[in-house]
Amino acid sequence: MNKTRHPNVRTGNDPVIDEANKVIITPKTISRRALVKAALVAGGLVPIAGLFRQSVAYGDSPPLDPGEQTARSLNYVTKSTKADAYCGNCSQYQGKAGDAMGPCAIFPGKSVAAAGWCSGWAKKLPA
Ligand code: SF4
Repeated sequence: MNKTRHPNVRTGNDPVIDEANKVIITPKTISRRALVKAALVAGGLVPIAGLFRQSVAYGDSPPLDPGEQTARSLNYVTKSTKADAYCGNCSQYQGKAGDAMGPCAIFPGKSVAAAGWCSGWAKKLPA
């Protein structure tokens, strides 16, 4: 490909004419203003994306069915029989305090009952 500099342009950041294809190739430069604008737009989208992620995690996760195979394999129940061991005080529980249901790291995409329990229970350590 035979490329020559456009005769009217003197700087190093100049367009190039491809003689074989008669196409002017202009180097793309990003202005500081465009960069700042893009950063502001991206910075504004991050919290919005977080809202969607949180709504999926808390609001849209269907409850874990104790009859599902993975739940049965870990003996999951929606009401713990142990007074001091339940999902709400398990290290795997990701729900907010006071919520009846919340996500669990062991059962991704599902909500477990805060009052529930399974054999994966491990006491949540104080923060
Ligand atoms: S690991 Fe078991 S006990 Fe712990 S939160 Fe998940 S379902 Fe509940």
